[in-house]
Amino acid sequence: MGAVDFPFFGNALWVDFLNTEPARPGGGRDDRISTPEAFVRWAQAASLISSEDAFQPDEVWLEEAHQFRTTLREGADALVTDRNPPSATIVAVNEKLARSPVVSTLIKGGSGWQVKPRFKAGLADALLGRLAADFAETLASGRANRLRRCEHPSCVMMFIDTSKNGKRRWCSMETCGNREKAAGRRARSKL
Ligand SMILES: [Zn+2]
Repeated sequence: MGAVDFPFFGNALWVDFLNTEPARPGGGRDDRISTPEAFVRWAQAASLISSEDAFQPDEVWLEEAHQFRTTLREGADALVTDRNPPSATIVAVNEKLARSPVVSTLIKGGSGWQVKPRFKAGLADALLGRLAADFAETLASGRANRLRRCEHPSCVMMFIDTSKNGKRRWCSMETCGNREKAAGRRARSKL
């Protein structure tokens, strides 16, 4: 399985995390991070960890990660229909944040001085903390009202619409956008 199996069109890390569960052709969902090894590959593809990081999560931790993904999805499902995320989602996010404190670090980069967050927890907590922080940032910045589900009926992918006019409909033009265009052509040719 290569990085190509992990979509990163969500425009937010936590949304890409949700998108590790694409729709399965016959219904239901696949899970592309169903093993600790697969999770590590995703985390590397997402630049959450580097190939030098010796991160070897066990099944118990993976179960916690999967549960957190489910909780975030419940939050996302509420947000796309303009509701507030369930309080269980907020509690879980705050719990992950509390377990991965961040210190600010002043560093000089190519574009000048920057304040960068540095996670003080071990990798296992820090990873879920990063996802929680990213969800929190989406809500606090007001970008949550741009959270969308792909309009293709058999697709469950989500994304934050960062287009200027706010009219992005598809997770990806290459897959769902084209499927829709082809379906439109087929429908027209039957008329
Ligand atoms: Zn789609």
